[in-house]
Order: sequence, then structure tokens, then C-alpha cells
Amino acid sequence: MIAVPSPLRLRLSSEALVSNWRWLAKQSGSAACGAAIKADGYGLGARAVMRHLAAAGCRDFFVATWAEAAALMPLLEGISLSVLHGAGAADMVAARTIPARPVLCSIEQVRRWQQMGEGRPCDVMVDTGMNRLGLRPEEATGGALDGLTIETLLSHLASADEDSEQNVRQLAAFCAIGQVVRARRYSLANSAGVCLGADYAFDLTRPGIALYGGTPRAEAAGQLCQVAFPEARILQVRSVREGETVGYGATWTARRATLIVVTNLGYADGYLRCHAGTGAGARWQGHALPLVGRVSMDLTAFDASDAGAVDEGDWIALDYDLQSVSAASGLSQYELLTGLGSRFERYWS
Ligand SMILES: *Cc1c(COP(=O)(O)O)cnc(C)c1O
Repeated sequence: MIAVPSPLRLRLSSEALVSNWRWLAKQSGSAACGAAIKADGYGLGARAVMRHLAAAGCRDFFVATWAEAAALMPLLEGISLSVLHGAGAADMVAARTIPARPVLCSIEQVRRWQQMGEGRPCDVMVDTGMNRLGLRPEEATGGALDGLTIETLLSHLASADEDSEQNVRQLAAFCAIGQVVRARRYSLANSAGVCLGADYAFDLTRPGIALYGGTPRAEAAGQLCQVAFPEARILQVRSVREGETVGYGATWTARRATLIVVTNLGYADGYLRCHAGTGAGARWQGHALPLVGRVSMDLTAFDASDAGAVDEGDWIALDYDLQSVSAASGLSQYELLTGLGSRFERYWS
């Protein structure tokens, strides 16, 4: 096959990824620090994320589905992989053949594993107030888990990114369940939960967004490095005259003669229309390039008037500081990463 270079690239820093994991591991105290790599490693590439973090010493990984687990085979020696959505009836062939553990998350799944799991170890999710996945506390403590070999008992915090009373309530509920349900390890904290302090760490933490440079809570501000740097190649440089408009709906009018660069980037790549009008933009050799007009499916224009020598074929770097772009656009830091589409070529350094 001919190697065709993409006009979009996502530069990814393994150094930043590992540095973020080390910070989270330190905050996790004596607990092991794992990694949530669902949704293809939050859009960065689960396989590469796993490889870099495993080399740094991370041993526990979490995906959402068995398809995601299958894509990570074969696992390196000593790596543990858990499938957060458990084992539905349709998952049983995968769950018995792929060397990963289901995180059983309902009474039905527990019964299924007791009958068909061949005594293999599993993880179990208990619900302490999120009401998404997991056994109710009374289900978990009422004997339904008898006979299972539980490697990790998990629960998930609903409001860890806020100073919410719910955090303390979930912590207390999880501790109470842990008094009754025997497991080799206990795990409650996601990224924001790691920032809540040692009480929340138990034996194993499960950060996701913070690994990838997202700031889950104020405590982490300034501690985490940007990992993903999206870039787009300039397709065309245009001189637009004063009074002319750019793009669909003619929403932007040139107030002066303007140098416009048009890039191969659009909402089909996860660069959504809501970036327009937020002060979003890009950079070329240190010059700011404000976004101009509407974002369309595969084209976005930027004002390069202050970057005189910019040329067709040059790469521009999108402003993609997760915290500030999230605040300006209304998209969550998670959406900003997981939305980045398959037309980006991913380059790790
Ligand atoms: C996604 C997820 C995580 C990681 O959450 P972040 O907020 O990205 O740190 C941890 N645990 C469970 C169960 C999850 O679904």
C-alpha cells in the first residue's frame, strides 16, 4: 500500500504522559496507581498509552468493553486488564478466552460468572450513589458474591471533581461494604478522587483524564503536563479584502485586508463548531492565528495576518490547553480528547 500522509497530526508526548502518571502515583501514596485507557486511551491510542505506562511501572489497566480488551492482546507479562462493563450474555465467549477480568456490575452478571466463569477471578463494581453500574450495597453484602474470587472490589465517585458531600457519603458506603465483602484489593478513586486525599486511595487508584493532561480539580493545577498537541497542515493561503466574508453563513467579515489560512480540519475531526467565537485559535512559529468564521466538516480558516511568512503546506498547532479550551468552549476536557477523530495521525515522542 502507498503511504499517504495525513494533513492532520496529533503529537503525543510520552514524557508528559509518564510524568503525569508519576505525579498521580505519588498522590496515591501506598496505593498502586493504575490507568483508565478506555475509548482508545481517551483518543490518544490505548496500545501506545499502555506500552509507555507499563514501561514506567504501571500494572493495572481499565477498558470499557471486551472489544477494547481484544485490541490490546497480547498483554505484556505482569499486566492486569479489567473490563469495566462486565460480562453480559453476549460477552461470555470473549470473557472466557481473553486474559482480562470482567468488572461484574449486576446480580445477573455475578450469577452468570458463578455459573460460567469456571472459577476464574473477577472484579466487582458496587454502586455507592452514582446509579450507573454496580451492585447495590445490600446486594453486595447479602451473600450474592459468595464463592467468587474477587481480585478488586471497585466503586466509582460521582462528584469527585466538586467539593460535594456525596464524596464523603460514597467513601463511608464503600468502607462499610469493604468490611463485609472480601477482595484482594479495593479501589475507589478516579483522577479527581486521587486529589481528594489518602482516604480515597485504598489499594489501587484508577486515573484517566489526568494522565492525559486534564486537570480534574484545583489541587492538580500546574502539576500535570499537556500530552496531546493537535496540528493541521495549511491547505491554502488566501488574501481576503476588507468587507469580504469567510465561510458558511458569512458569519465573519474582514475589517481590513486579511491573510487567511485554510486547514484540513473540521467538526468531523472533533474540532467542533462551538469553538467559533470563543477566542479559539492556533499558533504558527509563535504567532497567534485566531479562528475565523464557522468550523465546517473538513475545513477551518484562521487569521494569519500577523504571521506574514506563513505558507501552504506549513503546520499550525491548535490551541489545546484542556482546561482553558474547555472553559471557553463548554466542552469537557474528556470530550476535547475523545472527540479527536481518526484522520489525525498519532505520533509519539
Ligand atoms: C473512566 C473511569 C475512570 C477514570 O476516570 P477519570 O475521571 O478519567 O480519571 C475510573 N474508573 C471508572 C469506573 C471509570 O469508568
